Amino acid sequence: MSYFEVVNPLFGRYVLGNAPVKQIATGFDWVEGPVWFGDAGCLLFSDIPNNRILRWSPGAGVSTFRQPSNFANGNTRDRQGRLVTCEHGTRRVTRTELDGSVTIVADRYRGRRLNSPNDVVVKSDGSIWFSDPHYGIMTDYEGFLAEQELPCHVYRVDPSGEIEVALADFNCPNGLAFSPDETRLYVADTGRMFGSDPQHIRVFNVASSGALSGGEVFHTISPGCADGFRMDSDGNMWSSAADGVHCISPDGHLIGKVLVPELVSNLCFGGHAKHQLFMTATTSVYSITLNRRGAQNP
Ligand code: MG
Repeated sequence: MSYFEVVNPLFGRYVLGNAPVKQIATGFDWVEGPVWFGDAGCLLFSDIPNNRILRWSPGAGVSTFRQPSNFANGNTRDRQGRLVTCEHGTRRVTRTELDGSVTIVADRYRGRRLNSPNDVVVKSDGSIWFSDPHYGIMTDYEGFLAEQELPCHVYRVDPSGEIEVALADFNCPNGLAFSPDETRLYVADTGRMFGSDPQHIRVFNVASSGALSGGEVFHTISPGCADGFRMDSDGNMWSSAADGVHCISPDGHLIGKVLVPELVSNLCFGGHAKHQLFMTATTSVYSITLNRRGAQNP
């Protein structure tokens, strides 16, 4: 069987013909938010409906990292290596310090509670950028049914802890990532997940001050949506899709797919050379080794 679909011959340079898509863990309900800890040699990921963050290590398999996790969703690491987590249940973003204590990064904007932070990235200047759609307060399945107090924005928290709205013209902001040189910010709108448009990835220019401009449509994933994505060292985007992971060139074109047997939610690069793609997909976690490394920013 083939693990790939080649759309543009360029894709051939990014994959290895003899590297399989492997299911490395299964038995979950809806997994999300993978993040690789190279120094600990493990992957963390959220099993949202089961209210836990799990740890997977080669050889050791799966163990519990945090339970309850406050219905954690997206995870990443900052430049000090600290875990940064989006929590639906507590409607906040947290940072796990190196001593294990948990610091609240953001839980309110102008006195009102956030909706349910979904995905998060950290820029090299230490600012924390996260999406805040309302998915986690729409049901009691991945959080707690609750009133929405704020529109669905993308927020930026600067290293002093000050929070500001970075992007206000989204229906349901979801996956987000910076280009390797941080001159571009990609943000998905997944409004169609619950029946309303729009459904696409937009791209913004990032000034050295952090100011954003532009915002045109970069790509529309089909089938499925860009729940989560990460960049490789060449600036290609690897995005979740209904049939696997799609590789999108820096000019916005689909060049190939990694085919995965379950609906993919999110992904990250990891492994000893950061050339392994870990994909959270519904009930399971899959991996494949690529012929390209992930971007420096996690
Ligand atoms: Mg997401």
